[in-house]
Formats: sequence, C-alpha cells, structure tokens
Amino acid sequence: MARVKYNGLVVEVPAGRSVLDALLDRGETIPHGCRAGACQTCLMQATQGTVPAASQRGLKAAHRERGLFLACSCMPEEDLEVCLPDTQQLRIAASIVGRRALADDVMELSLRTSEPFSYRAGQYVTLWRDAELGRSYSLANLPQTDGLLQFHIRRIEGGAFSGWIHDSARVGDALDVQGPMGDCFYTADDPEQKLLLIGTGTGLAPLYGILQDALAQGHRGAIHLFHGALARDGLYLHDSLTELAAQHNKLHYHACVLHGDDEPAADIRAGDVGALALERIGTPAGWKCYLCGDPTLVNGLRKKLFLAGAAMKDIHADAFLASGPAPRDPLND
Ligand SMILES: Cc1cc2nc3c(=O)[nH]c(=O)nc-3n(C[C@H](O)[C@H](O)[C@H](O)COP(=O)(O)OP(=O)(O)OC[C@H]3O[C@@H](n4cnc5c(N)ncnc54)[C@H](O)[C@@H]3O)c2cc1C
Repeated sequence: MARVKYNGLVVEVPAGRSVLDALLDRGETIPHGCRAGACQTCLMQATQGTVPAASQRGLKAAHRERGLFLACSCMPEEDLEVCLPDTQQLRIAASIVGRRALADDVMELSLRTSEPFSYRAGQYVTLWRDAELGRSYSLANLPQTDGLLQFHIRRIEGGAFSGWIHDSARVGDALDVQGPMGDCFYTADDPEQKLLLIGTGTGLAPLYGILQDALAQGHRGAIHLFHGALARDGLYLHDSLTELAAQHNKLHYHACVLHGDDEPAADIRAGDVGALALERIGTPAGWKCYLCGDPTLVNGLRKKLFLAGAAMKDIHADAFLASGPAPRDPLND
C-alpha cells in the first residue's frame, strides 16, 4: 500500500484506489470533475516520488516534466508527496462578454481572455468559477485575434456550474480558463476526405467549431453533420445550420429528434441519431468521424463505426462525462 503525503497529512492508498479518492475520503477538498482522466480538473503535482505514466496521459510534456498528474487516474505504486499545482501557471483570466439564449436550456457564453489563448475549434477547456468549481466545456468558435471564446452550455437540473451560468452569471464576471485539451478538431491533412459529425444536445458545440474550421480551410470532401435532440426545441441551431448548408453544397445537415410527438417536419428525421447516420452514409470506411455529447451514444457509436469499417485513427470522440460521486471503495463498505 502506497502512502501519499499531502498538506501535512499522510494518507494510505490501497491498491486500485486513486489518490483523488483517498484524499476525498479523508475530507480534503480537491477540485475534480469527470473522474475518468478527461477533464483535467483534478490536476495535482508530485513533489516527491514518481507517478504512474497512466496518470499523466494527455498532459503536455512540460507539465509531465513538472510532475503534474491527474489525481483520478493515479493509482500510486510508490510513496508520493503531492500538492495542488500553482494555478497561475495553468490558467488564464477571462471575463464574460456575452450571454445569449440559444434555446430554453442552452446558453451561448462568450468570454474574452486577458491574454492570447491558442486552441483549435472543437477542443475543450476547464472553466473555473472559483478555486473549487471547474467544469469542461467545448470551444464552439474559431480562434479570434481578440481572444473571444464561445461555448454552448446546457442547463443541468441542480447543476453547480451550468446553474450559475444560466441563473446568476453576468457580463463582466471573471472566471479562469485552463487548457485547451482533446483531439476533436479539424486537420487539413486530406481535404477530400468525407467528414461525419455526430452529436447530441450541446455535443453540437465542438462540431459547430470543427465545421466552421473545415469550411474556413476550404475542405473539399462532403461534410455530414447529424445533430440529435430529444425533441424539436433541442435542435438549437436548426435555422443557422439549414442556412449554412444552403450556402455550401458539400455540407449536409441532418436534424434528428428521438421523440417526434407530431409528424416530424420534412427537414427533421425521427429516430436515433446514430442509427440514422449509419443508415444515411452506408459504410464509414475512409471517413473521418467526430462524435460528441452523451457518453452512452459516443462510446456506443465509436464501436459501431469501427466495426463498420472506420479506422480507429479517424474516430475522434468527446464524451461529455458528468461529474459524479466517487466509486465505492469495497474495503470500506
Ligand atoms: C470533455 C467534455 C466536454 C464538455 N463540453 C460541454 C459543452 O460544450 N457543453 C455542455 O453543456 N456541457 C459540456 N460538458 C459537460 C460539463 O462539463 C458539465 O458536466 C455539465 O455542464 C454539468 O455541470 P454542472 O456543474 O452544471 O452539474 P453538476 O453539479 O456537476 O451535476 C449536478 C448533477 O447532475 C448530474 N449531471 C451532470 N451532467 C449531467 C448530464 N449531462 N446529464 C444528466 N445528469 C447530469 C450530475 O451527476 C449530478 O448529479 C462537457 C464535459 C466533458 C467531459
């Protein structure tokens, strides 16, 4: 059993348990989110000892060298001394410059960073309301010279961050931005390759960014965007996307609703967005695929596309994992 020293406290971490779980069990306040190594909210720093490589997956080389690691993915194999990292070096200051309702439960949030921020549309960042509350959101706009970042944030019932954005946040409020992260972005390596973009809910945010990037870079292959929602009012960019598709022959926008109460409109299909996409495009072999939003849909489709012929290297996915309670420790049950 490894021992982890943190803030004057020595905590024993049983095999298979993470540093994050062990510290939370002891009542320590460690910021965290997805607990699956994606959101990087639980970043910590090892000042003594070596952390397992798996806990540094996806981190920048400079951060790995400084001993930064993800506490949720760190099952220590040796004793460690750890601390919370200096956030000044990881985050940049930003302020809210706009809030616009895209639908009853989706807000477009616009921020301006205090210094240049380099990213690719479709990647995600952690937005920090304060030292403890940080959540991942995908970048929906192309990088701008004036540091404008745009996000689509869905209200989650009882949600700490999304509730703040929808109900209380105001233009001028400050927050911090950490990142960017993820590989869901357009690359112009093969401008003829067909692109398949599938997302549910605000999974449209990164896809909207990727789409704009592909169009801006003159992508020549067909681009099929499938947006799935439970009902018509969840198709929150329907008119803009319909208009955009009318301007670009290569862009095909497919709006899908799971529950069509009435006969769906002529331009909206009823059914499961993944099934409708596979039915429409036939084999995905040779396509570049982007999947974003609901984790069950994203993870299920990733497998289906691979089995149907898409190459793993051509499948880019961001599952919008929710922050959740700690997995149970069988030793403490
Ligand atoms: C890589 C990545 C990118 C993301 N990008 C976006 C984005 O662009 N737009 C966006 O709106 N969200 C995005 N998310 C989700 C976002 O990070 C938050 O999880 C979400 O906004 C809820 O945070 P909250 O603080 O409001 O709710 P919390 O306070 O974290 O949760 C409140 C309760 O709701 C549950 N819950 C949380 N999320 C959901 C959900 N989706 N469905 C049902 N129950 C839920 C929690 O388990 C908890 O019980 C992304 C997540 C990841 C990992």
